[in-house]
Amino acid sequence: MGESKIYKSDIYIDKRGYPRFRDNNKLVHRVVMEKIIGRPLREDERVHHIDGDKMNFRRRNLQLVSKKDHFKIHVVDKQIKDKKVSFWQSLNKFLDKL
Ligand SMILES: [Zn+2]
Repeated sequence: MGESKIYKSDIYIDKRGYPRFRDNNKLVHRVVMEKIIGRPLREDERVHHIDGDKMNFRRRNLQLVSKKDHFKIHVVDKQIKDKKVSFWQSLNKFLDKL
């Protein structure tokens, strides 16, 4: 990532458990993804932590997804995994929210 090193003291953890930069309140994983792809993220773009660890910023752990896909990953896929709902129930819940 080159030029600027990030220090622990530059970062705080917000109420939802995400690290942010103290000076501009930006989410660290969004800034890291912007550096990886070389452009600012759009408002509807989300950065997903593949392993679920909010502190893991390794490139292979971060996935750029749309807002809709991110919702699907977290809500729909999790409900199916936990077997709380069937695939069709969760798909319909998901479509209701679009
Ligand atoms: Zn995510």
